[in-house]
Amino acid sequence: MTAKIISGTETAKAIREELKIEIAELKEKHNVVPGLVTILVGEDPASQSYVTAKNKTAHALGIHSEQMTLAADISEQELLNLIEKYNNDDKIHGILVQLPLPKHINEAKVLYTINPDKDVDGFHPVNVGKMVLGEQCYLPCTPHGILELLTRSGVKTSGAEVVVIGRSNIVGKPISNLMLQKRDGGNATVTICHTRTKDMAAHTKRADIIIAAVGVPKMVTADMVKEGVVVIDVGVNRIGKTAEGKAILAGDVDFDGVKEKAAAITPVPGGVGPMTITMLMKNTLQAAKQAAGLI
Ligand code: NAP
Repeated sequence: MTAKIISGTETAKAIREELKIEIAELKEKHNVVPGLVTILVGEDPASQSYVTAKNKTAHALGIHSEQMTLAADISEQELLNLIEKYNNDDKIHGILVQLPLPKHINEAKVLYTINPDKDVDGFHPVNVGKMVLGEQCYLPCTPHGILELLTRSGVKTSGAEVVVIGRSNIVGKPISNLMLQKRDGGNATVTICHTRTKDMAAHTKRADIIIAAVGVPKMVTADMVKEGVVVIDVGVNRIGKTAEGKAILAGDVDFDGVKEKAAAITPVPGGVGPMTITMLMKNTLQAAKQAAGLI
């Protein structure tokens, strides 16, 4: 069996077209332009490229976007003051602080300062709590993107054995929770693996769907999966550089080996990555509609 490739690039493109139309309608009918601010502290090249991509996408969709780049030695209080300013700015519906932050800044304090109504990353405890309860909230962008990839590719999750590898707050834990919720796109039986899991292959071998969010290049190999599995590879690992200095990326899954057994698989790059940014745009639109009392 050679797997169907689940293209995040194509799926994201389709969703972005839908968002563009909705954003134009929102402006035309209600004179509302969704606004997003991205706040980057320091000069980490990977973070810089993520923030640039987010602003570029926002701009292309008709979202008003502001990019704040702050010196790495900015004080925690200065950053908190800036967030408060945007909490009170009616033009801005979504606030995104790019992580990780420098060590001298308390990440939790920063995330808790963002008004939950503007927390388009879905990291504030209010949104995390609502997600767990299955209430309307901002879903965290990467898990949200994975759900869209699965549903739009027609992957049946109800009753499926899902194995999530990784238990981070931004991917592993939320996607595990979303997959077990009692609604379309959920209803799965979920197992979560991590560094203390005794026999990872014993779990992955019986999985109908594997979601790998580990940060270890090519960790999931063909001998660890069963025929017909659906594989979502969240990992983005820089494993070298091209002669031109461009990063060579690999996922957490050995794509070449696993694709021979899988029914469907996401590539890296071009899988989950483009979906994450697209879901940020979707959340920003949702924030603008909520602020205008339209939902
Ligand atoms: P993280 O916070 O470092 O968490 C990694 C998780 O994997 C942890 O729960 C860890 O277990 C587990 N783990 C690490 N090595 C393992 C091993 N050898 N065996 C079993 N479990 C292991 O990472 P993250 O933020 O979730 O990100 C994971 C990957 O996804 C990274 O490559 C990241 O770059 C990528 N990512 C991509 C996107 C995207 O949009 N495409 C978004 C977010 C993240 P313990 O808890 O026991 O330490």
